[in-house]
Amino acid sequence: MSDGPSAMSDGPPPASSPLLARTRAELAAARAALDPRTGPVVLVPTMGALHTGHERLLRAARTLAGPRGSVVVSIFVNPLQFGPNEDLDRYPRTLEEDLAMCAREGARLVFAPSAAEMYPGGKPEVTVDPGPGGQLFEGEFRPGFFGGVLTVVLKLLHLTRPAIAVFGQKDAQQLTLVRRMVTDLNLDVVIEPVPTARDADGLATSSRNRYLSPADRAVALALPRALRAGQARAAEGFGDAAAVLAAARDALRAEPALVVDYVAVVDPGTFGPAEPGPALLVAAARAGGTRLIDNVPVLLAAEAAAEGILRDAATEGPGADAAHH
Ligand code: AMP
Repeated sequence: MSDGPSAMSDGPPPASSPLLARTRAELAAARAALDPRTGPVVLVPTMGALHTGHERLLRAARTLAGPRGSVVVSIFVNPLQFGPNEDLDRYPRTLEEDLAMCAREGARLVFAPSAAEMYPGGKPEVTVDPGPGGQLFEGEFRPGFFGGVLTVVLKLLHLTRPAIAVFGQKDAQQLTLVRRMVTDLNLDVVIEPVPTARDADGLATSSRNRYLSPADRAVALALPRALRAGQARAAEGFGDAAAVLAAARDALRAEPALVVDYVAVVDPGTFGPAEPGPALLVAAARAGGTRLIDNVPVLLAAEAAAEGILRDAATEGPGADAAHH
């Protein structure tokens, strides 16, 4: 459609299709043609079935690349990160539409390999250990998940050699562990986070949302509602971790059809216990058969400070020792 006589219009020039590499050899040839001296190569790793969340990543990547840099998109449904009872076979695959979005957003190169291309030796024996942070939350509910994610991310970084790689804050634990891998393994890449894209009803966009029936979706909306409730509690000023969590839990209880895997307030750098200051309210839940994860940033008050303020305002007056746990 956009290939019409657009030279006549005032809009941007028609997007040219990105080069599609299906093999490592095709990727290597196309990658060698990108000159890093003119601008950075920016990688956007995805599993395809692209939606507005990915669109945000592509736009951020385009901006980071600048007019003479290049955006490289990988589209690969990574078998290594799926458990035996998960949806590997029915995960949506929409390559034509994905390529159209990549073209619209100015990507230069799309790498869409088969599993045999990515894992030429079969199931890999040498993989990335995600460490203790990889056993928490998503790692607890999806054993092996982060080992699979970090292994494929490391391979994609080696194959595409980007200066910058962009990741969504929607998958906050993944972002944290990718950053930790970059630090611990001395990877020469800058990781750029991109904020979560949401539909108008508040649900974070996800390739799996297409599995939701209208009734499931109504149930699913309790998840972002609960995160907003926690955020509102923190914004009131005295919200410590316990208060934020209680507000989110109350909102979740109002929708018993939503099966909650976890809800927690965590330190964004480690996913360990949160300290006063910037933290994340994270949650995962199932609506119908569809699993959803989401998170929002919260600014936590110190527990002692919050209680001290309340107590000062009530009976004990100023000067009371509020420092306790
Ligand atoms: P996926 O294709 O689901 O593996 O996601 C690929 C990348 O897109 C990851 O970095 C995700 O965090 C990011 N992403 C997925 N959904 C969203 C969203 N709603 N908003 C922002 N980023 C997202």
